[in-house]
Amino acid sequence: MDSQQNNLYETASQPDTGTDAYTFLEFNTQGESEFDYPEFRSPVAWPTPSDSLAAAASSSSVRSAPAAASSSSSDHHHSDSQAASPVASSSVAKAAARGGHGVDGVVAGMGGLNFEETGDEDGYEFGKGDFTEHACRYCGVSNPACVVRCNVPSCRKWFCNSRGNTSGSHIVNHLVRAKHKEVCLHKDSPLGETILECYNCGCRNVFLLGFISAKTESVVVLLCREPCLNVNALKDMNWDLSQWCPLIDDRCFLQWLVKIPSEQEQLRARQISAQQINKIEELWKSNPDAALEDLEKPGVDDEPQPVALKYEDAYQYQNVFAPLIKLEADYDKMMKESQSKDNLTVRWDIGLNKKRVAYFVFPKEDNELRLVPGDELRLRYSGDAAHPAWQSVGHVIKLTAQEEVALELRASQGVPIDVNHGLSVDFVWKSTSFDRMQGAMKTFAVDETSVSGFIYHHLLGHEVENHMVRNAMPRRFGAPGLPELNASQVYAVKNVLQRPISLIQGPPGTGKTVTSAAIVYHMAKQGQGQVLVCAPSNVAVDQLAEKISATGLKVVRICAKSREAVSSPVEHLTLHYQVRHLDTSEKSELHKLQQLKDEQGELSSSDEKKYKALKRATEREISQSADVICCTCVGAGDPRLANFRFRQVLIDESTQSTEPECLIPLVLGAKQVILVGDHCQLGPVIMCKKAARAGLAQSLFERLVLLGVKPIRLQVQYRMHPALSEFPSNSFYEGTLQNGVTVNERQTTGIDFPWPVPNRPMFFYVQMGQEEISASGTSYLNRTEAANVEKIVTTFLRSGVIPSQIGVITPYEGQRAYIVNYMSRNGALRQQLYKEIEVASVDSFQGREKDYIILSCVRSNEHQVGLFCPVLLARVRISVNCLEITQ
Ligand SMILES: [Zn+2]
Ligand SMILES: [Zn+2]
Ligand SMILES: [Zn+2]
Repeated sequence: MDSQQNNLYETASQPDTGTDAYTFLEFNTQGESEFDYPEFRSPVAWPTPSDSLAAAASSSSVRSAPAAASSSSSDHHHSDSQAASPVASSSVAKAAARGGHGVDGVVAGMGGLNFEETGDEDGYEFGKGDFTEHACRYCGVSNPACVVRCNVPSCRKWFCNSRGNTSGSHIVNHLVRAKHKEVCLHKDSPLGETILECYNCGCRNVFLLGFISAKTESVVVLLCREPCLNVNALKDMNWDLSQWCPLIDDRCFLQWLVKIPSEQEQLRARQISAQQINKIEELWKSNPDAALEDLEKPGVDDEPQPVALKYEDAYQYQNVFAPLIKLEADYDKMMKESQSKDNLTVRWDIGLNKKRVAYFVFPKEDNELRLVPGDELRLRYSGDAAHPAWQSVGHVIKLTAQEEVALELRASQGVPIDVNHGLSVDFVWKSTSFDRMQGAMKTFAVDETSVSGFIYHHLLGHEVENHMVRNAMPRRFGAPGLPELNASQVYAVKNVLQRPISLIQGPPGTGKTVTSAAIVYHMAKQGQGQVLVCAPSNVAVDQLAEKISATGLKVVRICAKSREAVSSPVEHLTLHYQVRHLDTSEKSELHKLQQLKDEQGELSSSDEKKYKALKRATEREISQSADVICCTCVGAGDPRLANFRFRQVLIDESTQSTEPECLIPLVLGAKQVILVGDHCQLGPVIMCKKAARAGLAQSLFERLVLLGVKPIRLQVQYRMHPALSEFPSNSFYEGTLQNGVTVNERQTTGIDFPWPVPNRPMFFYVQMGQEEISASGTSYLNRTEAANVEKIVTTFLRSGVIPSQIGVITPYEGQRAYIVNYMSRNGALRQQLYKEIEVASVDSFQGREKDYIILSCVRSNEHQVGLFCPVLLARVRISVNCLEITQ
């Protein structure tokens, strides 16, 4: 199995509200007996997940039972040949006629064929021409009992329920990859032409649908997991809701619903690989009618040139990276611009700065979109009798606890504040970050002064003689305002100061930020000019800015203009704050204009001109007087820094940024570069799989390690109980991680929790619950595991742990949402307690601390063992590295 299949599903949790749009349509079998399944009348305890497999297996002896049910339940014995579609048999006949073999011969012969070459004398072409409309678009199986139609209007393609040699059935593969969620059974299938939908609410998302059989009658009812499974009114009916089972089990539709093609049918079918499926699905996005054959056409599916270890020169470097950035940008744009939503309910407010703020819930069907403060959205109203059409662009200033988006509008005029319903929102995609990466690569290539010669050759992987930086060394390597450094931290600071390029590897809890701040302190004292400090994320920049500021250095934190309204823990260090609060008399004119602008919303054009010029001058003055400038990597490309030069650059969390992103701060004149990170933790997030495959997901830090630059490793961790640091130390850090905390310092008293081994601060809780695909179709959940998470949380709370000490981590957004809902619905204690417990994804927990961590792994299935093992290991690697377990 190839590992790409995993890319289908989330690798790390991504936002997904789980509130997919439901269509409300009537279910067509209410009160009737169409869903009468004679074979289920047996007294077996039906249906639990394992039983359903058994039942499905036993039902194969009475294959057409559901069809029989609609007429009479006595006719159980349609023969297999009848069940097979006439089309499928006729293609066998044709093939047999052509080859002159019996069926066995055909099977053997076809198995070895590539179906591209079947354009033979009688014009038979597999997958084309006379091929049935309802044939599986992947493999060609066309037995009506085995295929379903994707019910998305723009798609309407048919797929079968066989796995072939992939991990999920073809229909499930399609639904997941295309992000489609509705299906319709074939008219000649046992159940007839039926759109699968929830009996109670009409929801058609097959990833949410499951079934239960009534207690007394032999009727099966389809019900959705959210919300209907939890509707109290339904609990009183004749159904045992605890027996609910999803319609898709182990990435395959249940067999009583959609049959799996017989082995013979599967052998006759086209053998399509997971990779081909990926490619054809990709192609369908731009050409919905494309056939598999089209993949062979030149230019359709060219993989970009992969990244290299070494490059001739910066032009070659640019030639490799520029197309990858373009791919990622195009993907990002397509994804974000497809996120428009209509019929929003909006409430209006006014911010402290007197700007209009709109609050609304922005349901995201696609869990790839993650809104962050600073994102730009366009809010629209199409108008009515009393209101003209209106639209305004604004910036997201926060996401509330109720998962509302707060959007600060740019223009306050004409806002239809008495309208609360029927508004629409679009994502406004901006190319800024991608443009800056492209710009940095160009500068790197054409501007000889962009970096020193040594850095230039080193980054390209050329052999260069190592040299030391001649700088006066401090006598002490610690810095004022920071904790005392340990030996490995001192070693790091000392070495870094003497080298033109260094890598610092900071495993969790080893004081990476303190060490970085100490390095910056000493560099700033060397008189080489201002030091530039960057990181890919705003959170990391803020943390570092705060620590550096604690040493007494003058720090200016430059935020993107779109984030100026976003609250920050280091607001006093931000440039926009300092401009506003610079209290000198010569600035009074700027202040006056600012005040006027705040009050009136805008200035006359001459005042505006004067205001802008004054503001720019003040910004420059403040920035120039700083010892250290802090901003994100992309922020280093801000026009406000265009004329600045930085000889010394430190990039924190550099292992989470792409190479071109790292280059943005470097091309401002770097002579001495320090990359801090940990390549054993999460890498950069690349949305476009093609670009990721080509190597865009590899950071510069990682490539330099491959080139032989040895990272200096911080070796003493202060976070975890020694028993917990043992595994990551041995598995990822060659056993070098030492403990700066003792067992006793990590012992809590008075907490009565039934640890299986009292002095081991961890245990594995194994359960047999099955994974289910979540509502988005691209994530997973595990209900049994969620129930057990609640039990553990409740036990902790009962024994005196407070909610803020507990963190629940899961790699799957589907599970995250389910646990939050489950705890607030079923938690044994006060609801508020559960609301205060943080349930989050692995990456959003990276770098943070909790006393107790519960990790919900979710995955559990029968089919993917071979494939799944490495995934599990990979997850453990990610998890252990970013879990900050102190208990
Ligand atoms: Zn579809
Ligand atoms: Zn198929
Ligand atoms: Zn429902």
